[in-house]
Amino acid sequence: MPPPGGRLGPGFLSEEEKNNKPKVTKALLLRIFSYLKPYWKQMLLVLIAILASAVLTLLPSVLTGRIVDEGLIAKNLQKLILYIVLSFTVTLLANLIGIAESYLNTWIAQHITYDMRNTMYRHLQSMSQRFFTSNNQGDIITRMTSDISGVQQIITGTLTSILSNSITLIVALVIMFRENWVLALVGVMIVPLFTIPTRSAGKTRWTITKESQACSDEINGILNETMSVSGQLLVKLFGMEQREYDRYESVNRRMIRLNIRESMAGRWFRMALNTFTNIGPMLIYLVGGIIMMRVDPTVTVGQITVLVALLGKMYGPVNQLLNIQVDWIRSMALFTRIFEYYDMPAEIENAPDALTPDSARGEVEFQHVRFYYDPEREILKDVSFRLEQGRCIAIVGPSGSGKSTLINLIPRLYDVIGGQVLFDGTDVRKLDLGFLRQHIGIVSQETYLFNGTIRENLLYAKPDATEDELIEACRRANIYDFISSQETGLDTVVGNRGLKLSGGEKQRISIARILLKDPELMIFDEATSALDSISEQKIQDAIEPLIATRTSILIAHRLSTVLAADEILVIRDGKIAERGTHSELVGRGGVYTQLYETQFSRAAEPQPAPVQSYTEGESDTGTE
Ligand code: ATP
Repeated sequence: MPPPGGRLGPGFLSEEEKNNKPKVTKALLLRIFSYLKPYWKQMLLVLIAILASAVLTLLPSVLTGRIVDEGLIAKNLQKLILYIVLSFTVTLLANLIGIAESYLNTWIAQHITYDMRNTMYRHLQSMSQRFFTSNNQGDIITRMTSDISGVQQIITGTLTSILSNSITLIVALVIMFRENWVLALVGVMIVPLFTIPTRSAGKTRWTITKESQACSDEINGILNETMSVSGQLLVKLFGMEQREYDRYESVNRRMIRLNIRESMAGRWFRMALNTFTNIGPMLIYLVGGIIMMRVDPTVTVGQITVLVALLGKMYGPVNQLLNIQVDWIRSMALFTRIFEYYDMPAEIENAPDALTPDSARGEVEFQHVRFYYDPEREILKDVSFRLEQGRCIAIVGPSGSGKSTLINLIPRLYDVIGGQVLFDGTDVRKLDLGFLRQHIGIVSQETYLFNGTIRENLLYAKPDATEDELIEACRRANIYDFISSQETGLDTVVGNRGLKLSGGEKQRISIARILLKDPELMIFDEATSALDSISEQKIQDAIEPLIATRTSILIAHRLSTVLAADEILVIRDGKIAERGTHSELVGRGGVYTQLYETQFSRAAEPQPAPVQSYTEGESDTGTE
């Protein structure tokens, strides 16, 4: 949907907009009003300012009549000067009030958008992982940015425009009818003529605007895709620079043509409007003249002049009010879109009586856990196991068997569909989310680092960590040598999403980050693709002492990690197919034996380097 107001052509709605007209209910209006309510005092001031400036803007037109009749025709210089000075003062005052009004208006609009943005950000943060994996990132950002900016435009534009134009029209009409009702009637009859050029120009502009909107979406799409780190990499590696350039250039050219057409459509519109603006007064002069000369000699030249002047002041408001309907519907659609997001349930929330125990042991138990993302396809069918304090469980299984899914249920990135997950003997859904996540650390397949320095990324886990603590964590994560070899040490910038570092370095930084967090339960989701064996060994050396002493779960792709575990769970088809230690399972001739033969055995041969190893994985479901 195009943004409201601004460049949009007046008077017309697209078919889509007509079909999807938001239902303007009392509840919707009340809800919108609730955002305005905190600023009612300022809004009252705006209303007074609009009223005052409408009256003051029209006053000079009335004074023109006095200037003509009492000054010029009566040849009274004193009165002439008096009315001119009065006109000037009134105009100045109207403009000053106009400035105050627009300041207040902007102030209110900015504050309302500020409130809405904060509410939206907080709400989005409470949304579940499912929301972020299923919704288009661009869409989320559009709601945060341009949709909410649209609201600002509604307040400074649409609302003010309705108010000030209606007031101006009413005041103008009252004055006109008081001056001379016959001429006022002639004037009112001319008003519909103003609308003819507006309507046809509006139609053209609206079509063009829609096309240019689509064009600009396309340009944004191309930029988003090709200007990202990974997108650029793909373009370069496939030698597609010229093709991407051509694609961009052709949309760019289309955009320019549309812009030129749009601006010319505006030109014709203005020309037509000018013509009508000139014809209107002529008609009043004509009718007014006939009445004055033939029918009613009491009609004065001043009266005719006042009517002409007031008529001139009505063009703008009439046109704008005619177009308001479109803006209004768009505004309502915009609010509906924003509220739609607000109303999405957070899905995973703290229970009202959530428990916050004093300490945690990090024990985990799955009891007949069932889970699916999509009811058509159950990922976990009946999973039960228990992990005691200080022990380590390795989870192995074919790719896509649900290993990462299983661990995501522990910090409640998703909730189970059936059965329950217990943390220290309590159902995770009954525990305070903050408490739960504070005591769980996950090193996920995909390591995410924020763009900043290594230090900033580490401090994310423990904002008050001392220099010594940082260094100690880096040492234990086997990354300290690398960091101290850098010129700027801990202040080395990691680049966009950490892409200035190698996969192995990022992994080790994320291990250091978890060490700083120091949770009771540590979960490692080993990435599947290859890193060189040296960097893999470094990661291995960092992890092994940890799992020996901590309550931990590992999704294992390597023999060495599997061997280090107290128990191995083999997941297949959403169930635990086998469980036991390596030596118990390896001779059983089941899934584990197959896995061992295809994955682990080769790793076992050349001592000690494992073959199946780490890299940045594809999964985006992990957290730390
Ligand atoms: P790998 O070893 O390759 O990392 P895995 O065993 O960890 O695999 P999961 O990532 O748990 O597998 O995925 C299990 C299944 O669930 C896969 O078939 C995947 O397509 C599906 N899946 C994973 N995440 C989502 C999601 N957010 N929405 C829908 N389906 C998903």
